[in-house]
Amino acid sequence: MRFYKTIFTSIIILISTLTGVAYSNQIDTLKKSVWQKIDNKTELLQNVNKKIWSFAEIGLEETESSNLLIDVLTKNGFSVKKDIANMPTAFMARYGKGKTKIGILAEYDALPGISQSHNPFEEPGPNKKAGHACGHSVFGVGSLAAALAIKELIEEKKIDGTITLYGTPAEETGIGKVYMLKDNYFKDEDVIFSWHPFDQTAVSYNETKALVNVKFVFKGTAAHSSVSPWRGKSALDAVELMTNGVNFMREHIKPDARIHYIITKGGDQPNVVPPEAEVWFYIRANKFSDLEDYFIWVKDIAEAAAKMSRTKLDDIIIQSEVHEKISFRYLSELMQENLETIGPPIWSEEELEFARVTQRNFLSKETYLQIKDLPALYNKINPLRQDPYPATASTDIADISWFVPTGGVGIASYGYNIPIHSWPVVAATGTTIGTKALIVAAKAIAATSIDLYQNEKMLEKVKSSWKESRGDAPFKTLIPKKQMAPERIN
Ligand SMILES: [Zn+2]
Repeated sequence: MRFYKTIFTSIIILISTLTGVAYSNQIDTLKKSVWQKIDNKTELLQNVNKKIWSFAEIGLEETESSNLLIDVLTKNGFSVKKDIANMPTAFMARYGKGKTKIGILAEYDALPGISQSHNPFEEPGPNKKAGHACGHSVFGVGSLAAALAIKELIEEKKIDGTITLYGTPAEETGIGKVYMLKDNYFKDEDVIFSWHPFDQTAVSYNETKALVNVKFVFKGTAAHSSVSPWRGKSALDAVELMTNGVNFMREHIKPDARIHYIITKGGDQPNVVPPEAEVWFYIRANKFSDLEDYFIWVKDIAEAAAKMSRTKLDDIIIQSEVHEKISFRYLSELMQENLETIGPPIWSEEELEFARVTQRNFLSKETYLQIKDLPALYNKINPLRQDPYPATASTDIADISWFVPTGGVGIASYGYNIPIHSWPVVAATGTTIGTKALIVAAKAIAATSIDLYQNEKMLEKVKSSWKESRGDAPFKTLIPKKQMAPERIN
């Protein structure tokens, strides 16, 4: 009897092992199929990237860029909702009815003041005012590629699920996703993916800073600056006193905090005492609670500056505010495994040479000498860190991460050691370097999506790990309740 029992148990184990193998083979086949679908679209992706790269539209003005993405999605069977959350360039494109819902974020805003051509030396580009110095043209197109390929698998009934591509404008000012979230978008997804161009290739297991994007408007009294300056009250004085006050505040805030500003209105000409002035601040900290404290302090300084200059603090315009990101490791582990199977982008000699020239032209001589013997374009994948990369910048994806688990990758898209928001990033992302990067990103997102569509336990573990990191802290915001997204930024 005991003998038969052992035989029976062995058979059960064998069957379940074989089923397990068959199951993982089936998932591998699906991943290979989705990667092939993405590769097959290389020409389309290259063209769409080239166009969005040339449009180089700044936040909330990305009309042609969003229309082009919408056009491709509509032609491929997605149902598209445009003009959402009061932003004409925000959209949502959905396909499928399946239970597991996956969202992918696309960004496509350019940065003002960094216009660049396709050449590896500094030269203005097709849009003389702006350029994709954060690489959002490839970001948008990489996300598009993943969404199109997953849609085909759903259509072929190889997977059961819903895929949604979110067109999220004005990331650079932390606006698009924040106001879409305020209108309750994203919240019905199980998981949301994104990616970002980078000088290395790594899973984005990182923290980000909370940020408030705010303008202070002062009103004074105009007068002739020479004939009767005593009859005037300078709003520009208030701005200068305020920035001085904030610069003294710096010494007494935590080292992770960042405060930067530009003066957006400082008067019209020197012989008129400026009756109106405006200063635009980004205040950042690793924790929202610190950000709240610093914001109160900065507002106190603004009021004091108005008193000192006998002017009026006329308005405080909170354009947006984003939180720190909820990071958790498990989804990054899944992405790491897929990214390692896919491998980093494979660069041609011309692409390496192009990036090398940008390094030589942009980096200081000292830095260039330190890195010149390393490949000009990153050719490996960083191992997954035990702890997240510490926060350096901010993103409006972080706000979504308080409601839905989010995951992503960073893919080498420009020369190694080149800082983001610089002309070499614009130059490289408009070439085949950018296209190769966006294809790897799309493959990593699509493969991890397949894992989650096909494996309920994995999806549950993503959700429970996220919940554990998220905790139950309430989501507060500095943005006034009824405030809509601004119509323009600059
Ligand atoms: Zn960016």
